[in-house]
Amino acid sequence: MSLSFEVLGRDGPARRGRLQTAHGAIDTPAFMPVGTAGTVKAMLPQSVAETGAQIVLGNTFHLMLKPGAERVASLGGLHKFMNWPGPILTDSGGFQVMSLAELRKLDPDGVTFRSPSDGSQHRLTPERSIEIQHLLDADITMSFDECTTWPVSEEDAAKSMRLSMKWAARGKAAFKERPGYGLFGIVQGSVFPALRAESVKALTDIGFDGYAVGGLAVGEGQEMMFTTLDGTVPLLPQDRPRYLMGVGRPGDIVGAVKRGIDMFDCVMPTRAGRTAQAFTRRGELNLRNARHRDDPRPIDAQCGCPACRDYSRAYLHHLIRSDEILGLMLLTWHNLHYYQDVMRGLRGAIEGGTLDHWIAAFETEQASGDIPPI
Ligand SMILES: [Zn+2]
Repeated sequence: MSLSFEVLGRDGPARRGRLQTAHGAIDTPAFMPVGTAGTVKAMLPQSVAETGAQIVLGNTFHLMLKPGAERVASLGGLHKFMNWPGPILTDSGGFQVMSLAELRKLDPDGVTFRSPSDGSQHRLTPERSIEIQHLLDADITMSFDECTTWPVSEEDAAKSMRLSMKWAARGKAAFKERPGYGLFGIVQGSVFPALRAESVKALTDIGFDGYAVGGLAVGEGQEMMFTTLDGTVPLLPQDRPRYLMGVGRPGDIVGAVKRGIDMFDCVMPTRAGRTAQAFTRRGELNLRNARHRDDPRPIDAQCGCPACRDYSRAYLHHLIRSDEILGLMLLTWHNLHYYQDVMRGLRGAIEGGTLDHWIAAFETEQASGDIPPI
């Protein structure tokens, strides 16, 4: 195997693991901040690392259009280009291309699309997606797949999933195996248990370094997402990492870890930070709200991030209301730090065999709501 993965401990289906890549180790369960265009927005790479993140995501679609995969490769690869020496996972570009409803043409071989920024024509095939991710020097490469829309009929979900499985086999054939680098397959099949099982079978027959669950968090709701994971995760190989794509809120992550998922990514903590929203142990709050105007207390007295350590809610509220860049930077930092706190808590609880107790305390605290105003 190109990537070594070790399960260090278990608590029920939940796993505490370590994934070794060419650019370092990742302790799982892990949350991966999203660095869409070669930057986790509003954060220096060293600040991202200080939150405890060990791996970031890069985005094939955005980077192929700007500045171009060949250019990144000629400048030494994405790690050097963005000054992130740690592991990088790249998505396949499929998700963004498929969401360009007006600008794309899908055929059995791949997809042709127009750049939303300058109208230029581009083509992505399973082979080209793998090649781009190789040029970017991704430690973890994702299979190119068609992301099934939601809601979808079982017939359409089956057709889409079977096309993705063909593309997964082509991607595997195109992938250049190297020590410390790996390729993940993506399980599709929407919310239909038989299709998910068929997809797992197809992928495990091909053989991947890790398995992602795709096509969730697209509007089906948390309950249906958990039901789908209940049916899918037990079918995945025990000795390979499992990645739930695009998820989610802290409560979604906790529920998925409990069901045996090891890796997550989501734009939520960074995107919400730029809209003044903070995720905390006591749920979500918005610093734009007038209740924080005269509040000298931090967002969360127990949080160790710079926003909570050095600044009041009143000051953060002022920055947000004044459209100051520092406000977005501090809230992004806080949110990423909080997400990593959740992951640290989950890893510790699995190691200690106290996951159920930890989750009960997490849920009680989340439900308690923000501290009362002064
Ligand atoms: Zn904080």
